Amino acid sequence: MYDINHIYEAKSVEDAVRLRMEQPQATIIAGGSDLLISIRAGDLAGCDLISIYMIDELRGVSLDDDGTIRIGSLTSFAALTKDDIIQKHVPVLGEAADKVGGPQIRNIGTIGGNTCNGVTSADTASTLMAYDAIIELTGSEGKRLVPIEEFYLGAKRVDLRPDEIQSAILIRPESYQGYEGYYYKYAMRGAMDIATSGCSVNVKLSEDKKTIVDARICYGVAGPIPMRTRSAEQAVKGLPVSKETVEAFAAGALQDVNPRTSWRATKEFRLHIQGELARRCLTESINRAGGVWS
Ligand SMILES: Cc1cc2nc3c(=O)[nH]c(=O)nc-3n(C[C@H](O)[C@H](O)[C@H](O)COP(=O)(O)OP(=O)(O)OC[C@H]3O[C@@H](n4cnc5c(N)ncnc54)[C@H](O)[C@@H]3O)c2cc1C
Repeated sequence: MYDINHIYEAKSVEDAVRLRMEQPQATIIAGGSDLLISIRAGDLAGCDLISIYMIDELRGVSLDDDGTIRIGSLTSFAALTKDDIIQKHVPVLGEAADKVGGPQIRNIGTIGGNTCNGVTSADTASTLMAYDAIIELTGSEGKRLVPIEEFYLGAKRVDLRPDEIQSAILIRPESYQGYEGYYYKYAMRGAMDIATSGCSVNVKLSEDKKTIVDARICYGVAGPIPMRTRSAEQAVKGLPVSKETVEAFAAGALQDVNPRTSWRATKEFRLHIQGELARRCLTESINRAGGVWS
């Protein structure tokens, strides 16, 4: 049923990088919640695997002296949601992680796997992109930092070199301090369902809470990879906190998104909900930020 030729078990990040170079045909496996399904379906019949799951140094969340949040790539969704640093500084990420699958998947699935699979519907990916997260990759020549938007090269394709593993995801203080946000996953049912579309927004308000200083928005399933919609972001900078501003945000988002029809939903339906998701996510982000509506 699971046609696996050989599993190499990495004991450390260094060991994983060495195995990557010695066994270039082998695929990295973390929690296995994506990969084992492909293997079971026969897509990777006879594969070699490099397991990184026992590398404890890749687990957990910490705060660097400069305020950068560092999320180890093997951190599970359940651990993310419960983590004190995540809850205090980037609660939207914990909320997004809590919308993944069901309890078993949230215990075994990792944030590294959710971003390295290159999938547009991945629940943490759009939220990380709305936080301008940075992907840390470790390879034979050391560490490489890639902004998450550049990490995604195309559907199911990410900027991971043959000798590298993803070691962490970083969120800089300037990307989260002073921002409040909200993630909305639209799916056909409340659990164990992939997003028909998802939307994550962060907003920063002026001191008197009456004006939008900055807004970031990222969609899942609005295109082949998670997608920031810059027209929406530009449309509301400097505008008052008002219903008209929320409408301008939704109109901007609809200029940029490009969803497709799939068995899950038509393009037209996705466009409809993507406009509504922009409205709801901006409104809730403003309310969380204590916005004063005019
Ligand atoms: C029943 C079910 C429900 C699900 N529901 C959802 C859902 O609602 N939302 C959602 O977003 N996802 C969902 N998923 C998908 C899945 O759980 C996630 O994508 C998960 O985050 C993958 O993490 P993993 O550790 O299991 O990755 P794996 O399956 O081990 O790996 C996934 C891919 O990433 C690569 N990879 C993993 N870690 C690294 C690393 N550190 N460095 C380099 N490459 C790496 C692997 O080579 C592989 O290509 C669901 C899956 C199942 C089975």
